[in-house]
Amino acid sequence: STTAYDNDNIFAKILRGELPSHKLYEDDETFAFMDIMPRGDGHFLVIPKKPSRNILDVAPDSLAAVMRTVQKLGRAAKEAFDADGLTVQQFNEAAGGQVVFHLHVHVIPRFEGIALRP
Ligand code: 5GP
Repeated sequence: STTAYDNDNIFAKILRGELPSHKLYEDDETFAFMDIMPRGDGHFLVIPKKPSRNILDVAPDSLAAVMRTVQKLGRAAKEAFDADGLTVQQFNEAAGGQVVFHLHVHVIPRFEGIALRP
């Protein structure tokens, strides 16, 4: 069984415009914004607009929309930052490293020989 979605999580508030964010992109199903504690230059997050706690409860169509946006913006970011690669990362439940309980995918431009910040 999965835990219920919390309507007052930080990303729900960002989606409702109750908290500010540096928005990169938005479409009917997804929203993308810069991570407030970037682990590398250009680190951003992609989230579904539909309330979803993580990969365990998200509807497949919503997950597909998130990954389409990850690919679209990931390609653009690799180009814009002249990066050598991209790290795409996603955490589920506290034991899996999740801190904010609205599904999000991390996208981080990567450069040869440069480690991610902790
Ligand atoms: P995770 O759940 O993936 O382990 O971590 C949550 C991520 O969200 C972290 O990378 C953190 O820096 C980011 N984050 C947490 N709070 C905020 C916020 O208020 N605004 C933005 N833009 N990012 C946040």
